[in-house]
Amino acid sequence: MKNFDPNYFCQQFPLLTENLSSQDKPIIYFDNAATTQKPICVIDSYKTYYHNFNANVHRASHALSAKATTAFEKVREDVKRFIHAKSSKEIIWTKGSTESLNLIACTLGEQIVNRGDEIIVAVSEHHANIVPWQLLAKKKGAVIKVLTLDDNGVVDINAFEKLINTKTKIVCCSHISNVIGKINPIKAIVEKAKALGAISVIDGAQAIAHVPVNVQSIGCDFYVFSAHKMFGPTGVGVLYGKQALLEVMPPYQAGGEMIKTVSFNQETTFNTLPFKFEAGTPNIAGVVAFGQAINFTEQYDVNQLQHYEKKLGQYCYQALRNIPQIHFIVQHAPDIPLFSFTVDGHHNHDIASTLDSLGIAIRSGHHCAMPLMEYLNISGCLRVSLATYNSIEEVDYFIACLQKIIANTDNQVVYGQQENTDKEQSLASDKLVTQFANLDGWHNRHREIMLLSKQLTRLDKAARNDDSLIRGCESLAWLQASCDKQGIYTFEADSDAKVIRGLLVIVLAAFNGKTAQEIQHFDIDGYFESLGLIRQLSPSRSNGLLAIVEKIKSLVVSVE
Ligand code: PMP
Repeated sequence: MKNFDPNYFCQQFPLLTENLSSQDKPIIYFDNAATTQKPICVIDSYKTYYHNFNANVHRASHALSAKATTAFEKVREDVKRFIHAKSSKEIIWTKGSTESLNLIACTLGEQIVNRGDEIIVAVSEHHANIVPWQLLAKKKGAVIKVLTLDDNGVVDINAFEKLINTKTKIVCCSHISNVIGKINPIKAIVEKAKALGAISVIDGAQAIAHVPVNVQSIGCDFYVFSAHKMFGPTGVGVLYGKQALLEVMPPYQAGGEMIKTVSFNQETTFNTLPFKFEAGTPNIAGVVAFGQAINFTEQYDVNQLQHYEKKLGQYCYQALRNIPQIHFIVQHAPDIPLFSFTVDGHHNHDIASTLDSLGIAIRSGHHCAMPLMEYLNISGCLRVSLATYNSIEEVDYFIACLQKIIANTDNQVVYGQQENTDKEQSLASDKLVTQFANLDGWHNRHREIMLLSKQLTRLDKAARNDDSLIRGCESLAWLQASCDKQGIYTFEADSDAKVIRGLLVIVLAAFNGKTAQEIQHFDIDGYFESLGLIRQLSPSRSNGLLAIVEKIKSLVVSVE
């Protein structure tokens, strides 16, 4: 077993050591709850696989196929051991937690849920563990019952006991929420569900990377997770299910590999577990690479990894707590190094985008947990999530940057006025292009966008309404249009995020004073390219910008 040395450990991740941010420093990656970086052994595994033993699994009677199959099936055994499943027949390959959850809803859900039945879903779930159940409930005429949280932010076991009854068919809860970072009392939930004959589905997408998982001791019927959250590749996920349940569930997708016999004269019969649920050629290279990720982690003493992660998390938590403007979304320290908070006087997107311009990646938004945001009465929050390759020095730099951003409060807003009145009323797009051409790097361009935000004439409260709202933009943003007799359009816009206001100035500079035809044909991507912003902000890729452009185009159509 290798001794855990944080420096050496981090060196195994080329993205973190071989790439520089716009600050000419190694990238600081604090978005590990979204996905983790990959160690070199995982990256190399793809090359080795395709160089040396690429063949389809299970099918052919040749040596290459046997080699590929052995490697592929060994990883199933590794996963079985990793989560302490009884049998490798209980390990089904999927493309991620999302597909695993959909698989359960579409097979077992279809089979056991009927009109009037109830499905309990915790309010803190990721959309992946909400929407499949909503679709199922709608189709079957079943009811979703929402399980609330206690004061500490974990699912409320007392509320659960009142919610569950003999109509409850399925109970869905994450082991650890991707926003709250605390361990839910899943053993108690599973036990109670079992006592009332309900199926328990545990979303382990976050927990798998941070806490030892023993599905037999948890006692759950299903446990799902994704390889990419634990240094493994994207496109590989696991559905653990109790064998007895998997045996009687109908298949999910149909095709090759999941059948035993196919005939036009007799009923098609299905393969044994786990293959019954694995139609088509699986992600062989991904599964093999996932095996490398498991081996990579297992080289180290789990206690040493956990000790370091805990120390790092406590250090970061304490440093964040010392900033008075920070409000954590739940009380008390989380169980994993994942911190969600808002900052007084600053929009989440402004903080996250400024940190990004300083080479620090954190997340802002609803984190695919919109019901939780609603429950907490916030529109979104910032999330910092650490992994074992992160360091105390990175946390120090992050905290110093965050403090500087917070100290720079020039957010006093006078609605109906331009914040910076000495600037010209409107900027021509070609002037902006020249202005941006003189700026070097994303950091300077981002700063310019933040400065430009001051030139936006803020909309009155009455104009910030449902009609003017730009849907699809994660921060609140509004836009209204007027058209003169010559068919020339003028747009006014606003947002609660400074960075979006800056982008609105840029977008409006392109569209204001143009006719409907000119607007419809304007090459917005080309414009962003000439501003040197396309790498960070492509209007056809970036949801927020796309939503702004689409709103402009829709208003042009409707005003025409
Ligand atoms: N559940 C939770 C708690 C998650 O954090 C995520 C990923 N953010 C998912 C489900 C979905 O995982 P994937 O996108 O890998 O399918």
